[in-house]
Parts: sequence; C-alpha cells; structure tokens
Amino acid sequence: MGTVVEITVASREEKEAMAAIQAAFAEIERIDALLSSHRTDSLISRVNREGFRAKVPVEKDIFQLIREAASFSEASGGAFDVTVWPLSKLWGFDEGGRRPSVTELRDAVAKVGYRKLVLDQGDGSVGFTLPGMGLDLGAIAKGWAVDRAMDVLAARGMTDVIVDAGGDLRVAGSRPGKGFWRIGVQDPRDSGSLLFTLDLTDTAIVTSGDYERFFEEDGVRYHHILDPTTGMPACGCRSVTVLAPTAAEADASATAAFVLGAQRGVAFLRSRPGVRGVIVDGAGSLHWSDAALEALARGLRRP
Ligand code: AMP
Ligand code: MG
Repeated sequence: MGTVVEITVASREEKEAMAAIQAAFAEIERIDALLSSHRTDSLISRVNREGFRAKVPVEKDIFQLIREAASFSEASGGAFDVTVWPLSKLWGFDEGGRRPSVTELRDAVAKVGYRKLVLDQGDGSVGFTLPGMGLDLGAIAKGWAVDRAMDVLAARGMTDVIVDAGGDLRVAGSRPGKGFWRIGVQDPRDSGSLLFTLDLTDTAIVTSGDYERFFEEDGVRYHHILDPTTGMPACGCRSVTVLAPTAAEADASATAAFVLGAQRGVAFLRSRPGVRGVIVDGAGSLHWSDAALEALARGLRRP
C-alpha cells in the first residue's frame, strides 16, 4: 500500500500480543497483495486489465469493499470516485509524476465514472462498460486494511491497540494508566510539527493531505488527490482529518471532503452519521465540522 504500518498493543501477555500482531500483519499483507495497484500481479491489476472484456470474479470481502466504495462514490456526489484509476495512472504520482496534456486529461476523465462500473452480486464479479476503465481503491484500502487488522487483534483478545498505516489510524482501548491514546495531527506545511493532539479511544482518525504525494512545476504543487470532473489535483485544501467509527469510512470521507473543498467538505462531513473532522484550507485556516471536536484539540496552533 506504499506506506509503513505500525501496530502498538498494550498487554501483559507478551507472547499472545506478539502472535496477534503477527496475525494482523499477515492480514494486511493479504489485502495488499489483492488491492495494490503498484503490483502487476494483484487482483485489482488483473481486474483493471481484464474487466472490460469479461467480468472478473473477486473474493467475497473484496466485492463487499468495492460495493461500499461504489456507494460511497454516489454518496459523495462523485467527489470520491472508485473508478479514478485512468487519472491516477496518467499522473503517475507513484513514479514521480508528470503533467498530462489537455487531450490526455480529457480522454482519461471520460473513462472515469462509478456509474460505468458493473458489480454483479450474483457471482461476485466486477466489470467495466468502457475500455481503459479501472478501479483505484487507494483512497479507502488503507483504512479498510486497518479495520481488518483491528478485527484480527480484537478476535485475539487485544483490547488496547493502535493500528497506524502511515497516518490512517484506528485506536481501541487506551494507553495503560491513561484512559486514552494521545494522537497527533500533522501540520500540512511542516512535517516536523503538529497542528494539535487529540486524546482518543475507540475511533478511527485518518488524514488526507496534498503533501503526501506531489511534485512541483513552475511553483505549482501537483498532488495525488484528483478531482474526477476535471482530472486535475483538487484545489482548495491542504489537509482533511476525519474521525469515524471505522477507518474505511474515515479514509473515504477524508478524500471526498478534500475534493469538495472547505465549505462543501464540512457540509458533507456533517451529513455522515458518526463522522466529524477538520479541514485545513489553502490559506491554512481550520474549518471544524463539529465544535465539540474543536474543544478536544490540545495545543492547537492557530494559522
Ligand atoms: P487518500 O490519501 O486517502 O486521500 O487517497 C489518495 C489516493 O486515492 C490517490 O493516491 C489515488 O490513488 C486515489 N484517488 C485520488 N483521487 C481520488 C478521488 N477523487 N476518489 C477516489 N480515489 C482517489
Ligand atoms: Mg482516503
């Protein structure tokens, strides 16, 4: 998934805890092998190669995830779009990135659209109605993998846990003796400092930012979160941090709100039950979806 995953478990049973952590990593590796678009041998890469010619059957839980991602695409009005792959491939941020031509952009935009995706509940298969279409689960898969790792740890009785996939986090229970886990949210323009910290228990917290994968050309920052309607990097935000019951929901919501921009993004977060967050706009100002969340932020640095 192109990131470092760190698992923290507080437990008196060291052997059991280590075994649980190993099992959780094995689950993350299973998911990475299926969903990575970096790997040509992954299930998703095969779906993207073959899905137009013939529907490709996928694992049950992966079908469920793709269905969730498709309905989330609908719920976000297409700001989040699980079929954004032709655009992500074109920009190629994983290989350093380059600015596409207007024609290239137009062609790729025409191949993006969750409504052109075919999900067959009957045989659990995925297909496309246009050649060149493809799935990109990059905006939800990390969160989903964090949730599955959390399930594995919980099933083995681990109650006080942090699973952190490069800033896509889920926390359960607390740091012993504290009653919470203290989580820092990064300043999008200063990787060395925090915007604020939150004392959390039993929640997911995920950040999408324009500083994660980008290149600069003529003083303009081109980053990896794309507006499916224009094909260009979404402008108007530096970062979006979202809290939700699951990391998949938080991950997808953060990306959607980023594309929607500060005003519509905050409205979108408010419309989702159990979801709240904060958006750092292009000028560095903070927009909270929820005053109670703002009140929990410690050491808040005002822009
Ligand atoms: P995230 O870091 O969760 O915001 O996800 C960003 C990744 O999701 C990118 O690297 C792309 O692979 C993919 N992506 C970019 N733009 C979108 C979008 N509008 N909808 C869904 N996925 C996207
Ligand atoms: Mg995301």
